[in-house]
Amino acid sequence: MLPILTTLQQRKPHLYSPDWLCPQCNTAPEDINHLWTCPYILPELNPCMTHRKEIAKFRDDCIAAFSSLKTLPTSFSDAFLVLDCWNYESPSSSCLWLTRELLPAHLTTFLKDYFPLSVIYKVISPLLNDFQLELYGEIWLCYNVLFHAWEESQGISASSKIKGGPSSNSPIVSSHHHNSSLASVPQDSWISWISSSIIRDQEDELGSDQEEVNNIENHYDYY
Ligand SMILES: [Zn+2]
Repeated sequence: MLPILTTLQQRKPHLYSPDWLCPQCNTAPEDINHLWTCPYILPELNPCMTHRKEIAKFRDDCIAAFSSLKTLPTSFSDAFLVLDCWNYESPSSSCLWLTRELLPAHLTTFLKDYFPLSVIYKVISPLLNDFQLELYGEIWLCYNVLFHAWEESQGISASSKIKGGPSSNSPIVSSHHHNSSLASVPQDSWISWISSSIIRDQEDELGSDQEEVNNIENHYDYY
């Protein structure tokens, strides 16, 4: 399970106030889909634009890969391009499924008019894997660093997370911290946060890495 804010708010409401919005943009609840659509902009991190770019790349790679297998009518790419799952502007729910490694049925149904299912999976699985790795590196890892920095700014320490229940003497959802977001953090301190967070939380990060890799592997076992 990804330690996104809405999950933490359900698990540990004494640490993570249910009122808190996405710590990066402070405009929406931070659920799994928001991770890919957050409009927060830094030179190093713009999840929304990165997500769109990676969806478009995945889509174009699919067209190139399928076109290399046999001669296809021009109507193939025309129709492929307008499939609902590539609609990253809204984004469509099938686009978000794809982002979570789930192949939308309409995508495979469309391709089955041209290729057998085994070929479809053989072509699309490595491309989907590449797509996931790009999202992981460009959004998820950066997100982890920012999230740890934000937790620190809220007075949520590693030890307070381990202590658990609201009966412990752990902090501290104070009105002082309420609604503060990373957008208010000066750039230079953000950068120093990154370097210190990476070192200090290396163990946490490795744990998350492993979980992600397992998810991807399980996905391919499923085929
Ligand atoms: Zn956001």
